[in-house]
Amino acid sequence: MLQLYTPLNWFGTYYRMIQQAFIDMENMFDLLKEKQEIKDAPEANELIVTRGEVEFRNVSFHYRPDHQILTNISFVVPPGKTVALVGPSGAGKSTIIRLIFRFYDIQSGSITIDGQDISKVQQRSLRSLIGVVPQDTVLFNNDIEYNIRYGRVGATSGEVEDAARVAEIHDRIMTFPEGGSDYDCDGDEYDDDDHHHPYDGDDDDDDGYSDGYKTMVGERGLKLSGGEKQRVAIARTVLKAPAFVLLDEATSALDTKTERQIQSSLAKVCENRTTIIVAHRLSTIIHADKIIVLKDGCIVESGRHEELLEIEDGVYTNMWNQQLTKQDDSPITDSF
Ligand code: ATP
Repeated sequence: MLQLYTPLNWFGTYYRMIQQAFIDMENMFDLLKEKQEIKDAPEANELIVTRGEVEFRNVSFHYRPDHQILTNISFVVPPGKTVALVGPSGAGKSTIIRLIFRFYDIQSGSITIDGQDISKVQQRSLRSLIGVVPQDTVLFNNDIEYNIRYGRVGATSGEVEDAARVAEIHDRIMTFPEGGSDYDCDGDEYDDDDHHHPYDGDDDDDDGYSDGYKTMVGERGLKLSGGEKQRVAIARTVLKAPAFVLLDEATSALDTKTERQIQSSLAKVCENRTTIIVAHRLSTIIHADKIIVLKDGCIVESGRHEELLEIEDGVYTNMWNQQLTKQDDSPITDSF
């Protein structure tokens, strides 16, 4: 899980609520009105993306000097390709994603995008080019339209709806009641003690923009399921249309059907974009252009799925075999 640890303990409940939410790395500082730890160099230029290549060269990193997290990490993500990071819990996968977002500066080595060192470019320009689909998306206490538009605040309602369609959440939104503060949306069906669903019109929107988009969500509104929240994150990313996509797969297993649907939406978002996925279920990344296997902060294997499976008693081979024997397809990293 991607976590953010800054000296914000005073922030109490609110901070704890959002600390797990990677999407808000993008706007965390805005939200908390906190001074950023990482500062732009005075001469920092805007990041110019020409091809979309990410390169880690001999990157070493620790959060605290007494605990080395990453050691001599080198890899290239070619433009438009997908690289998956796999490995046991605590191996440093999410840390790599945080570093690309330049949430922390590294101690040695370099991280470059199209040859520009990310520690020397304006953070805002770096972050504006990256879309993040986190494990667990924080929803603002606002309507669902606002929550999707967050990906690009200038987007029109039509664009918000198009993004929701790509993320395959539009039809669901059409079933949302306007308002919705007392509704629970934790699955396909409403619970017995839930209020009766007031929306009984048809699901097409030929009579204009759906009121469902005005449904309040978040803590004080309609509670969305894990899969639905992920779709909101996907819709935001679709709207943002970033050059780079960072995806932190949920550790908690979604049901197989939901998982498959989300995979297909994700595939659309990642198409032709340089993508880095932190994967917990190997079944989701067998088509990745490259799989990097991390263990104790080091790259121990890398290659395509088929290549890695040829390594006898390899880390990846063992992970794969372990997953095959699992009936329930639960997160592989949990079993290490
Ligand atoms: P998982 O699969 O469980 O999400 P991971 O491979 O993504 O794990 P990371 O989240 O990158 O692992 O964590 C790597 C190590 O860094 C862990 O030992 C973790 O405890 C530590 N760590 C993560 N964030 C911080 C932080 N902000 N401060 C100190 N240590 C941290």
